[in-house]
Amino acid sequence: MLACELRLAGADVVVVERLAERTGESRAGGIHSRTLEVLDQRGVLDRFLAEGEPQPVGHFSGLYLDFDESESRHPYPLMILQSAVERLLEEWAGELGVRVRRSAAVSGIRQDAGGVTVELDTADGAAELRAGYLVGCDGGRSTVRKLAGIGFPGTDATMTALIGDVELPGLPEDYVWVRRTPGGDYSAIAFEPGWYRVITSEYDRVADRDEPATFEQLRESLVRVAGTDFGMHSPRWVSRFNDAARQADRYRKGRVLLAGDAAHIHFPAGGQGLNMGVQDAVNLGWKLASVVRGRAPESLLDSYHDERHPVGERVLHNTRAQAALARPGAATDALREVFGSLMVFDDVNRVLRHMLTALDVRYPVDGDHPMEGRRVFDADLKTDEGVIGVYQLLHGARPVLLDLCGSVEVTAAAAGWADRVDLVAARAEDELWPVPPVGEVPAPAALLIRPDGHVAWAADAGGEPDTAALRAALTTWFGPALEG
Ligand SMILES: Cc1cc2nc3c(=O)[nH]c(=O)nc-3n(C[C@H](O)[C@H](O)[C@H](O)COP(=O)(O)OP(=O)(O)OC[C@H]3O[C@@H](n4cnc5c(N)ncnc54)[C@H](O)[C@@H]3O)c2cc1C
Repeated sequence: MLACELRLAGADVVVVERLAERTGESRAGGIHSRTLEVLDQRGVLDRFLAEGEPQPVGHFSGLYLDFDESESRHPYPLMILQSAVERLLEEWAGELGVRVRRSAAVSGIRQDAGGVTVELDTADGAAELRAGYLVGCDGGRSTVRKLAGIGFPGTDATMTALIGDVELPGLPEDYVWVRRTPGGDYSAIAFEPGWYRVITSEYDRVADRDEPATFEQLRESLVRVAGTDFGMHSPRWVSRFNDAARQADRYRKGRVLLAGDAAHIHFPAGGQGLNMGVQDAVNLGWKLASVVRGRAPESLLDSYHDERHPVGERVLHNTRAQAALARPGAATDALREVFGSLMVFDDVNRVLRHMLTALDVRYPVDGDHPMEGRRVFDADLKTDEGVIGVYQLLHGARPVLLDLCGSVEVTAAAAGWADRVDLVAARAEDELWPVPPVGEVPAPAALLIRPDGHVAWAADAGGEPDTAALRAALTTWFGPALEG
C-alpha cells in the first residue's frame, strides 16, 4: 500500500521482500469501513468488493456490533482473506510500476545526512541499496526497527491462541462463533465451501514464540477446550498468536520510518491490525513523496508520528480490553453480560463501532471546524461533468481544494499552490454530511482535503472563509507558495 501511495505521488520506490513469493496464508479475515474508504479514494475498491463478502455485523471481543448506513458508503466489515488483499495490492503496485525485489532480506542499515544504505542478504549473496529513506514495513519482529534502535515497549503475552485452516466434517453447524468453556474459547468459521478456520484460545499457557505451531497442537488444544476435535483434517495452514501488545516509541528516526506491524502489535481481536497498517501507509505516502521530491521540508515527516502514534495507542488499548473480556471464568462471564447489555444502546454501540472502524480518527489540527482533522465523507457533488463523489477527486492522491460556494477569495488564496493542489468547483448535493463521531454537520462552503482524505481546512457556508488559515494550512501540508 505504501509503495502504491509513493508511486502515485511521483516517488521512485522499491519494495524489498525476504520471501521468494507470497505465502498465500489466509491470516486477517476482513477489512473495515475506513480501509474500504481508503481503497475507494484510490479507485481500486471494486477489486476488493469483487472478492469479499460484506458482513451484517462486526464484533467487540465476540459481542456483536451494529453498523450505521448513514456514516459511510461502506458501513460493513468486508470478509476477505489477507492472502487476497496482498495479491490485489501487489497487482495494483505492478500496474503503478512499483519494483518488487524478492528473496532479499534487510540485514543492515547505515544512515547519513544524504540517505540510507541498506544491506541485503540475497540469493546471490550480499548486496547494497542506496535510498533517500527506508520504511520498515517488515512485521512485528521488524529487523529495520531493531537496526534503527527504535524501542518497542509494551506488555508480554498472557495467553496462547492457535489458528488453523482445516477441513472439518464433524461440526454440527456451519459456524461456531466464540464458544466459551472453562478451558478457554474456540470458534470455527466456514470461510469458503469445504474448509473452516478453527481458533482456540487458552489462558493458562504462554507458548514460546519461536516454537513452531503444529496441527497436532491445534488438535490437542481443541480437545482440551471443546472436548472434541470435530474430526478436523487436511490443514492448509496452522499458526499461533497471542495478546502481546507493543508499540514503537517513535515512528521515525532520521531517514528510517516504521509502518504496520513493525510499528505496533496487539491481540487481533476486532480485526484491526492490517487496517491500521494500510492507514499508516496512506498517512505517510504523500508526505514522504513530498519530502523526497523537495516540495516539503523534512519536518513534515514528524507529523506522521504525531498523527499515527495515538491511533496505534488506542488500538492497543481496545485490544487489551477485548483480551480481558475474553478470559474464562465467572467474573468475566458476568462482565461480558453487563458489557453486552450496554452494547444494545446506540451510543455505546457507536463508540465501539467508531473505535474499530477508525471512522472517527481526528488528527491534531489548529482549527476548530468539526470536519478539520477528520476524514471527509464521500459526499455527492454536482459538477459541470455531472454528479461525482468526493473520493473520485482523490484517485490521483493529490490534495484537493473543494470550492462549494464559488468563492473568488478561496480561489485567489490558493493561486500559489496551483501546481500541487487541484482546485475543484462544485455544489454539494446534500445539506448535511456525516462526520463521525460528531454527527451530521452542514455541508461546508470550502474544504482543503489532503491526499489521505483528511480535511486540512474547512469553511462554513454563510461566513467569510478564513483565507489566512487556508494559506497557513496549504503551507503546512504542501510547502510554500510559488512566487508570482
Ligand atoms: C489470526 C490473525 C487474524 C488477524 N485478523 C485480522 C483482521 O481480521 N483484520 C486486520 O486488520 N488484521 C488482522 N490481523 C493482523 C494482520 O494480519 C497484520 O496486522 C498484518 O499482516 C500486518 O501487515 P504488515 O505488512 O505490517 O506485516 P506482515 O504481514 O508481517 O509483513 C511483513 C513482511 O516483511 C517481510 N520481512 C520481514 N523481515 C524482513 C527483512 N529483514 N527483509 C525483507 N523483508 C522482510 C516478511 O516476509 C513479510 O512479507 C490478524 C492477525 C492474525 C495473526
